Amino acid sequence: MDPERPGFADAHVHISEDGFSDRYPDVGDAEVLFGCTARESEWDAMRSCDVPGAVRFYGVHPWYADGWDDCIRGRLESILDSDPNAHVGEIGMDSKRGDVSVQRPVLDAQLDIASELHRMANIHMVGCERDVLESVRKHGRGCRAMILHSFSSESYVKPFAEAGCMFSINPRILARSETRISRLLSSIPADRLLLETDAPYVPRDFDGMRGFAERLGKASGMDAGHLMGIALENARRIADV
Ligand SMILES: [Zn+2]
Repeated sequence: MDPERPGFADAHVHISEDGFSDRYPDVGDAEVLFGCTARESEWDAMRSCDVPGAVRFYGVHPWYADGWDDCIRGRLESILDSDPNAHVGEIGMDSKRGDVSVQRPVLDAQLDIASELHRMANIHMVGCERDVLESVRKHGRGCRAMILHSFSSESYVKPFAEAGCMFSINPRILARSETRISRLLSSIPADRLLLETDAPYVPRDFDGMRGFAERLGKASGMDAGHLMGIALENARRIADV
């Protein structure tokens, strides 16, 4: 690793999807990549994914929650049983797409599995903060870590932090004002901060993790290298890698 180009961690990325790195110029410098899946049909690709630094997550995304059944639950449990380094995600709730009354029990069931096996959970939350908070409190207690992906709900930092969650910041946050970005970042405890790209689903002006950290640093008055450094340290600690 070039000392002038320190490595970084990406806490939410779809590494098993085609073209995930096409618009991610510095992905080769990533030391840790939390690779998420959105449905069962992606799990085989994730199992055989050989991207260096990959930490594998298996889950059913809220958009596909209506496909959840006992057979998929059994398969998820057996993958996690056979691979102690596998985790649960992408799971969650989305008030803008799908039926939240279907999504909620699917989130809870997957949190229960992650809790029971002491694994991490990677959580999608669009709206639904109260529901997700209740779910992580009730069903996430045994999780090794719970990562709130693309987090931006500043007023919920405190209760989610108390529930043991990590906060993963996505390049989409850069569409907000500097004041809001700076308020959000200063509200997140340093040992709970993560950075992510959600590649291949990156914003049009995305130019790599370093470019993102630079812009985030500028908006928040924090040093980009420091932000990437603490996010890497946090990712290594929770993933134990
Ligand atoms: Zn995602």
